[in-house]
Amino acid sequence: MRLLPALTALPTAPLAPRHQPRAAAYAHYRQCLRWDFGFHCVFCLLHERDFMPTGGEGFAVFWIKHREPQSRQAALKNAYDNCLWACRLCNHARGATAVKDGAGRRLLDPRTDAWAARFEIQGHSLEVKAAGDGDAEYTHLAYDLADARKTTMRRRRATRVPLLIRAVRQHLADEAALLERAKSVRGVKQRACVLEAENARRLADFALSDLQDCAAVLPADAVPCSCRRHGALPAWLDTQLRDDAAALGHTGPSA
Ligand SMILES: [Zn+2]
Ligand SMILES: [Zn+2]
Repeated sequence: MRLLPALTALPTAPLAPRHQPRAAAYAHYRQCLRWDFGFHCVFCLLHERDFMPTGGEGFAVFWIKHREPQSRQAALKNAYDNCLWACRLCNHARGATAVKDGAGRRLLDPRTDAWAARFEIQGHSLEVKAAGDGDAEYTHLAYDLADARKTTMRRRRATRVPLLIRAVRQHLADEAALLERAKSVRGVKQRACVLEAENARRLADFALSDLQDCAAVLPADAVPCSCRRHGALPAWLDTQLRDDAAALGHTGPSA
């Protein structure tokens, strides 16, 4: 199990597409887009798991977003380069807002614009980095990037991941200490130590199970894509994944 970081760092370089599906109706690009963008919404940088702990696929929480809206550029409807992976909130917030507004401000494109150069996380909210950056402000407004629900989800993961990692380690340490103590006592005291050790192990199992809500890719989500490039996450995300169960000293649920 590879875990998401407490907070997904914004990409410091544009998220250049790696997948090249054969031209088809855009709905067929779904799995390519998920792998291409590491199961994250390219706008708010929340993960599918932040919305749906059991895996996002099939729950309609993430959608294909056309950069040039279908209603404005029908010819680009099935162009892979015009498709992005977005959470329902960002998708719905923008709707068919134009790529450029009347004042010449343009929506930033995660495929050509580095998000970390234009936005930053402030108190778990995604905010425009530099005052007066019109394109970033227009993008921020269009996708409602400061939506309180997005901030709440970001804070939730940032709080849970370190707490659960500490909990797994502590309960495993408790189990080991209790089993060691059981060797030096006899009778009722020994049985009590063993029971307490079993409880500590169960608590470690529970904490590990909760941590799996923050796995970067669940088996149920690892759907192959049409261009056969699935399985690899983008470098921007891959370098942020840490702490699998083995690194925590947990060998898997005891029963
Ligand atoms: Zn693909
Ligand atoms: Zn989003």
